[in-house]
Amino acid sequence: MANKVAIAIGAHPDDIEFYMAGTLLMLKKAGYQTHYLNLASGNCGSADYNGATTRSIRNTEARAAAKTLAASFHPPIADDLEIIYSLELLRALAAIIREVKPKIVLTHSPQDYMEDHTNTCRLAVTAAFARGMPNFRSSPGRPVGDYEVTVYHAMPHGLCDQLRRRVIPGAFVNTTSVHRTRREALAAHKSQQGWLDVSQGLNSYLLAMEDMSLELGRMSKRFKHAEGWRRHLHFGFCGADTDPLAKALGKNYLINKAYERSLERGN
Ligand SMILES: [Zn+2]
Repeated sequence: MANKVAIAIGAHPDDIEFYMAGTLLMLKKAGYQTHYLNLASGNCGSADYNGATTRSIRNTEARAAAKTLAASFHPPIADDLEIIYSLELLRALAAIIREVKPKIVLTHSPQDYMEDHTNTCRLAVTAAFARGMPNFRSSPGRPVGDYEVTVYHAMPHGLCDQLRRRVIPGAFVNTTSVHRTRREALAAHKSQQGWLDVSQGLNSYLLAMEDMSLELGRMSKRFKHAEGWRRHLHFGFCGADTDPLAKALGKNYLINKAYERSLERGN
């Protein structure tokens, strides 16, 4: 099947740039049509402006970031801290999946430091699962499709789960050649650079992303900058060995042997 389409589904404006944008850019280079969706508007991301103003500022920033990534922008369907695993959001996300018909879904880790991220992950997984089920109604209603989709989970923030346990990637993507563009897309979220310094003590917004990508590069022992991924179990999605990132990215994709060994050990 020739549907070379990928969608990144993040929780907040800038999450795609932090965890997934390098891979999205590499897929673009490999001939994929790419899509950009943050489920939440980012309305809580300011101590200076009210929710409506912040939502509007962040919408403009996210659209600029998507443009830098040359990805199709989809508007958010919720507000911050309101990404609940709910039927309403599931129906809305199922409609987007049915329109986009992705071969690859990039989304958050099932384990992560905040619930908006983990709920985004759960919603993305179920919306992808429901792509071909006519008796599940999307909102708005969209025709179902019969095609394979592979879901990949990004690294959690801080490379550990909410119980502080380390999470290692199942595979690395070499993002070195697109790092500048990824950084440029992150820099489009201008309102967040000062805000995160205040709220989370990150001394630099751009450096936080840079540190993570260099750390993953070091872990790969091959690439300078990298993003890490874990592939969702295939049942209901695709073939057991289907790994379209490997196919699309070739030498820029590296299976993490340490992760494969941990799978065999069952931990
Ligand atoms: Zn987030």
